[in-house]
Amino acid sequence: MKQQWNAAKQVIRQLEQAGFEAVFVGGAVRDLLLARPVHDIDVATSAMPEEVKTIFAKTVDIGIEHGTVLVLDAGEPVEVTTYRTEGEYADHRRPDDVIFVRSLAEDLKRRDFTMNAIAMDANEQLIDLYNGQQDITKKIIRAVGNPLERFAEDALRMLRAVRFSAQLGFTIEQVTLEAIKEHAQEITFVARERIAAEFEKIWVSGSVKNGIDALVATNLADYLPGNITKHQEKWTSFQTKQAVVGWAYLSFVHNDWQEIVQGYRLSNKQKLFIQQVLAAYDKLQIGWQPLNYFEYDLEVLETAYDFVWWQGNRLPFPKEQIRVTKANLPIQTKQQLAANGHDFIQWNEGKRGPWLKVVIDQAIEAVLSGKLQNDNQHIKDWFINEFEEI
Ligand code: ATP
Ligand code: MG
Repeated sequence: MKQQWNAAKQVIRQLEQAGFEAVFVGGAVRDLLLARPVHDIDVATSAMPEEVKTIFAKTVDIGIEHGTVLVLDAGEPVEVTTYRTEGEYADHRRPDDVIFVRSLAEDLKRRDFTMNAIAMDANEQLIDLYNGQQDITKKIIRAVGNPLERFAEDALRMLRAVRFSAQLGFTIEQVTLEAIKEHAQEITFVARERIAAEFEKIWVSGSVKNGIDALVATNLADYLPGNITKHQEKWTSFQTKQAVVGWAYLSFVHNDWQEIVQGYRLSNKQKLFIQQVLAAYDKLQIGWQPLNYFEYDLEVLETAYDFVWWQGNRLPFPKEQIRVTKANLPIQTKQQLAANGHDFIQWNEGKRGPWLKVVIDQAIEAVLSGKLQNDNQHIKDWFINEFEEI
């Protein structure tokens, strides 16, 4: 990250030398003040996009219509965005157009929260027109300006407030909270993919419980799929590094995975994971058999196991046992069975048919349960003597 800061600083200096203003702004400044890891550094400038492009030798237009140019001159890529205000907001989603301006104050005014509206110059001097530092110290999420107006302009901001409360463990300030409650219903105007992206940040955040509580306190939960309010207390111990695990647990507590998959436009891959975890969880209620350890990935098994303690129930065995049991299975994949389709067809006088899949599944199960040794001759004997054709 040090290199990125230095590259961004070099870009800022070059813009200044060309007679423009330029500063660090947004999440990077906030996270620096919070001593949290910074993942993307944004530079804002009074130079117009076309001016930025003449100052630097190597640039890429990555969002020129929003005023963003990627500068490649400093070793590391640096995103440079022209100071801007936003035009009219129709339908509570993104402004219809952006207006480039020369004033940093104008740019900071359109930002969502005070902690995200702090700028820092190349000498590390902060420009903090909305007392963002104070709110960071107090761990408060506060809208810039009039919160009612800000949420009416862009409904996604309401969910961003919730997401930051989960990521940072901050509290949404009272007036800001009341404004979100007032506008909560407008969250339904926001594209589901954007809603899902905020949720994915909540799932992997340090305080999912804080996020869930904020969803309920803001009333946003009432307008989002999953009946989150009803199951609020189920999230107390939830924690994960993978967003899809959050979707799986939401599907589980809501008891209707299809509504979650459709409601948040989840991918087929996410859907498959959710279905597998739910099935594995059901089977865990009876007790996992060797076949279950074989058919599900470790991640699926461990997630289903975690559901037990996230609900506050007694764990059936130590978690580490899942990995050990799975690793000790006689075979890990279908390919490791010491007989394949050709063998079975040959042993059945060249006849093919739907029996083949059945026999392979049964052989796998017999090997996994220890009833059948995994070698070609044993499998042949078993097939000839014991397999009952269906
Ligand atoms: P993250 O750590 O997720 O990147 P961030 O605060 O940097 O958090 P970004 O989405 O990268 O969030 O946005 C960068 C900055 O742009 C924000 O800090 C904020 O100043 C401003 N911003 C982003 N989205 C909005 C919005 N919907 N309304 C107003 N300002 C916004
Ligand atoms: Mg960012």
